[in-house]
Amino acid sequence: MNLSKSKYCNAIQCKKMLWLDTYKQDVKEDLNNDSVLENGTEVGILAKRLFGDYIDIDFNKDLSKMIEDTSNVIKENKKCNITEASFSYNNNFCSVDILKKNDDLYEIYEVKSSTGVKDVYKNDASYQYYVLTKLGYNVTKVSIVYINSKYERRGELELDKLFNIEDITDLAVSKLDEVEKNIKEINKYMNQKEEPNQLIGLHCTDPYDCPFFSYCTRDLETPNVFDIVKMNIKEKFKLYHDGKTSFKDLYKEDLNWRFKEQIDFEINNRKTKIEVDKIKEFLDTLSYPLYFLDFETYQQVIPLYDGIVPYEQIPFQYSLHYMESKDSEVKHKEFLAEADIDSRRPLAERLVEDIPKDVCVLAYNMGFEKGVIKHLAELYPDLREHLLNIVDNIKDLMVPFFRRNYYTKDMKGSYSIKYVLPALFPDDPSLNYHNLEGVHNGGEAMNAYANLGKLSKEEQIALRKNLLKYCELDTFAMVKIYNKFLEVVEK
Ligand code: SF4
Repeated sequence: MNLSKSKYCNAIQCKKMLWLDTYKQDVKEDLNNDSVLENGTEVGILAKRLFGDYIDIDFNKDLSKMIEDTSNVIKENKKCNITEASFSYNNNFCSVDILKKNDDLYEIYEVKSSTGVKDVYKNDASYQYYVLTKLGYNVTKVSIVYINSKYERRGELELDKLFNIEDITDLAVSKLDEVEKNIKEINKYMNQKEEPNQLIGLHCTDPYDCPFFSYCTRDLETPNVFDIVKMNIKEKFKLYHDGKTSFKDLYKEDLNWRFKEQIDFEINNRKTKIEVDKIKEFLDTLSYPLYFLDFETYQQVIPLYDGIVPYEQIPFQYSLHYMESKDSEVKHKEFLAEADIDSRRPLAERLVEDIPKDVCVLAYNMGFEKGVIKHLAELYPDLREHLLNIVDNIKDLMVPFFRRNYYTKDMKGSYSIKYVLPALFPDDPSLNYHNLEGVHNGGEAMNAYANLGKLSKEEQIALRKNLLKYCELDTFAMVKIYNKFLEVVEK
């Protein structure tokens, strides 16, 4: 078969994954990695400039054209950097992200948008080393280029500081025979016409979640051990390999009380559990005026503004519902930054205008909101005192669900608002995220804002409306949950 870098790496994780990807595409799940891919492309484009001028090999569906173009560049230049330099040896194709040519000596640089060097990257680069070496190129260095998570932008972007480079030449050389053996095995495996047998195991999630997991586990009774929320994946596979897969089997096991409770509610079809005194205790910690706060954030792999490190959570939007007293009207405020600006300062300024000092603020999973505001307080000393006052007064609406003071079977072991909400209000269409237009979850909101500036004025207006609606629903949902707590206590 025609192998590529990604196919080779997929097969190293699991040969059956490559087999299914080739012959049974229709059973593949969409694991929604779009934002990761987009980030990866951006980083790849930027990294091309890492060593100065470069000659880019244009992408062509006809790979032989890319190989021919590469060969011409190599012939015509004594010293150069070639990006997407393409080669094929015995149907094993690869494009090298950056190839440094210095007379007859070559260096391979594989660019990754992550902040560390994983084994899968080493396999990727070793495969490239194999292809080039077999073609007779004298490769003297093989390296992985990856993001330096500690780089904080100050002024112009400094590529040499944004990227780290790890030399893996010795490893690539030592793997030469292993790569050849792997390629032979992969080809033999891929020639099978019947679907091969392959046991599931830890390799199904490492290094990547396999998009065929549902297919490979289709014969298991549902729910099963893989549906237990927050259980470590190693523990899940241990139980699975011990033959304890169904909830009935697992019920007899000595498991953590959270897992036990999830299983118990499921198999015994338990009714809703409400610990009224605990919920009352929680409500007693709150006071009026009461604010409900939720942020939306996005990440920049390549920091666009000063003081940002790669992958930092940058707030660009919030929604705020609030009530002065128990019986007063619930009011709403919101903020959504303009596109393509550093959203942090305008957001922080509006936040201190919208939330007075010394009021009780509710967030769902407050660690996130607290972290975002604390970081803003570090950045803006003039707003610091007010921002830290908000932090000090935040309480977490998730606590009663986390402590399982309120639990229903439909929460399926989770305390995430995305499970809690439909479980508490199954028939309320106003609380159904699926009924929103365009933006239905945090990932979509993140992508929508990151790409807002690329849209036409009309498209921006429509998307901003969708973003506002989405974030508003987050805090509206919190108000509904809060009212539900009041209701059960009053009953
Ligand atoms: S789910 Fe596991 S066994 Fe099945 S193809 Fe994927 S990695 Fe292989």
